[in-house]
Parts: sequence; structure tokens; C-alpha cells
Amino acid sequence: MDYRDSAEEAEYRAGLRAWLADNVPPGHQNATTQDDRAAVAHAWHKKLYEGGYIGQSWPVEWGGKGLSPAMDAILNEETGNFNAPPLPGTAGYIGRALQMYGTDEQRTQLLPPTISGDIHWCQGFSEPSAGSDLAALRTRAVRDGDEYVVNGHKMWTSGGQYSDWCLLLARTDPDVPKHKGISAFLVDMRSPGITVQPIVLADGSPETSEVFWDDVRIPANQRLGDEGEGWRIAMTTVSYERGPSDIGFISTYRKNLAELEETAAKKGLTDDRETQARLARAYVLGEVLRLNVLQQLSLRISGRPPGEEGSISKQLWTHTEQELQHLALDLFGADVVTGRRPDYLHRYFMSRPISVYGGSSQIQKNIIAQRLLEMPRK
Ligand SMILES: Cc1cc2nc3c(=O)[nH]c(=O)nc-3n(C[C@H](O)[C@H](O)[C@H](O)COP(=O)(O)OP(=O)(O)OC[C@H]3O[C@@H](n4cnc5c(N)ncnc54)[C@H](O)[C@@H]3O)c2cc1C
Repeated sequence: MDYRDSAEEAEYRAGLRAWLADNVPPGHQNATTQDDRAAVAHAWHKKLYEGGYIGQSWPVEWGGKGLSPAMDAILNEETGNFNAPPLPGTAGYIGRALQMYGTDEQRTQLLPPTISGDIHWCQGFSEPSAGSDLAALRTRAVRDGDEYVVNGHKMWTSGGQYSDWCLLLARTDPDVPKHKGISAFLVDMRSPGITVQPIVLADGSPETSEVFWDDVRIPANQRLGDEGEGWRIAMTTVSYERGPSDIGFISTYRKNLAELEETAAKKGLTDDRETQARLARAYVLGEVLRLNVLQQLSLRISGRPPGEEGSISKQLWTHTEQELQHLALDLFGADVVTGRRPDYLHRYFMSRPISVYGGSSQIQKNIIAQRLLEMPRK
């Protein structure tokens, strides 16, 4: 595949660059509280929508632009180059599940405000005893006339306190094999009986939350897909979450790496063998990730939806991000903790749980070994 821009892509990139030059909010990296970061993310979503840069490859009938996934990649790459705030990820992968499994009524109600950033989503999958073994989830949804009554406890629901809607997984049938008894629901987070309790992470930010569901009544027409289809819907969602929607990571890594090289030079470490080796390792990991992302982009362009190969990208992404942020911490030293570079403190802390959320590294290795390499289980 030829990865150079076609004439159409070059024109799109040029227009986007001009737009980003005028619209990236200055100083957004200095947001230090979770409330500020959420406000930056929500305002950026709105701005992207107004500029026509949300839902590039989504179907036109659902508010997208119907463009090639290559335009998503260009958008990701250029927002990285311009140090823009992150693109709205959850809207992307939950939006995909809605497009694929939603009724016309659900899509009409929820896709336009999802694209425009008028509503924000969280993902209510994990529970205290159901993370890697997600199919063991215990939250129950019991049918009662035209409604389901939900009781349970969700864990690690990121952005729960900032979300208007939740894609919830709950058990509707406890008498069938565990993967088959799960259904998915679209739930208004203002429904009575939902209590969100933020979880404060190591850097003091309440990035994620636990959510208690007590007799929450959900209209039956807000079930997504059929009863028992929840597992399939969850796997579709995580395949988009793990996959390389983001070439943007790579342009961000390159910028990060250039800054680390400069910092190493300022500290007289250019000739230090260990620093050289670590910078080189971070560079090589970033390049391997870039090539993997490009290969997967080819698959998306040829019309193949993301699949289990997203586990490889997730592993490469984890290694690259953790290597880079660990090196940054060592190079910036005290500046990171004395408030001169709060952005790198946040980046370091956020690099740690990448090996856990979206499915842990061990689980990704299991998927790669068993399903992609078809290795025996023992
Ligand atoms: C910051 C953060 C944000 C998150 N956001 C969300 C969210 O928005 N929505 C949501 O639903 N969930 C979210 N999660 C939850 C995340 O998906 C789970 O934490 C993850 O799936 C692991 O589950 P667990 O924490 O229960 O760990 P466990 O499943 O208990 O795993 C503990 C350890 O055992 C290992 N392990 C478990 N089973 C196996 C196995 N079969 N083979 C080898 N090793 C194994 C794991 O790799 C891990 O190291 C988030 C988590 C974090 C940390």
C-alpha cells in the first residue's frame, strides 16, 4: 500500500492544518484538575464538531462524513502534531456499537448528540469481581413489563461523573452459559438509583469511578441488540477501543521524544550510553507501533472491521507509552514533581494503567497466543 497522501488526502490535510492553527486552545496542557481536563475535552469535542472534524468515517446517514478511514488517521496525526487535546475516544467506540446494533429509534435519538458532543458516554462493563473475566459479571437486569430493573456494582467506570449516558452490561439470564446471559443497555445516567463514586488515582485525579445501581429502571426499548447479545456488543466495542484509531499517538510520541532528546542535551547527557540506549529504544518502539498502525489502517481502508489483531496494537502502544513516560520522568527529574512540568507527571501516571484498562497485557498476550497464533492452551 502507498501511504503517501492522495490529492484528496493532501487537500484535506492542508485544510485541517489551517483549521488547527486557528483553533487548538492555547495552554490546554496546563489543566491540572480532572474537572479542568474534562472541561477541556468537552469544549474540544464541540469545537471539532463545529469545524466538521467529528465522525469522519461514520456513515453520512448517522451524522458522519462518510470519508475513508485514512481521513481519521490524518485527523489523528495532525491533532498530535499540533499538540491538540485528545480526540473524543469513548464517543468513537460506543458510537460504533450504537451504529452497528442500535434500532433506528436509538440511533436517531443518540447518535447526533454523541457526534456533536452534547452528550458524553461512559462504559459500564467491569465489576469488582469481573475484569479480565468480564463474563463473570453479576449486575442483574430483570425484566418487569416494559422495563428492566437493574441492581449491581460497576467498577472503574471512567468519566462516570462527567457522563450523560452509559453503555451498560448486565446479566439478563443467569441460567445459560455465562457469556450468553449478558445484555447491553443504553442508560441515561440521571436515572434514579444510580450513584457515582469517583475513584482517586495515584496522581490525585478522580479519572475513573465506581457506580452503584440500585433498582434502576431502564425502558426495554433502551436495550441495545437482542437479549443475550451483550457479549458480542462488548467485544465489538473493545475491538474499536484497542485498535489503532490513532496514528495520533505516533505524532505525539515523536514530539515527546524530540523534547526528551533536547532535555538530555541540556543536561549534558547526549553522550551518556544509557540515555542513548533508552532514547533509541523509545524510538524503535514508536516505529514498530507506527508500522503496525499503518498495516491495520490498510485493513480498515479495505473494509475489514477491527478484530483480535487490535491486541497486538494494544501491547505495542502500552510498551511505547510506558517506556517513553518512564524516560521522561527520569530526564525531567524534580521538574515533574515540583510543578514545572505537571503535564509529564500526569502523562506518567496515565501511562501506568494502560497495561490494565481495555483488557490487561496478560489477557492481550493470551488472545495473541490462542486466537492469532493458534497456540495450544497448555
Ligand atoms: C484507569 C482505569 C480505567 C478503566 N476504565 C474502565 C471503563 O471505563 N469501563 C470499564 O468497564 N472498565 C474500565 N477499567 C477496568 C479494566 O478493564 C479492568 O481493570 C481490567 O480488565 C482488569 O480487570 P481487574 O482490574 O478486575 O483485574 P483482574 O482481572 O483481577 O486481573 C488481576 C491480574 O491478573 C491477571 N490475569 C487475570 N486473568 C488472567 C488470565 N486468564 N491469564 C493471565 N493473567 C490473568 C491480569 O492481567 C492482572 O494482572 C479501567 C481500569 C483502569 C485501571
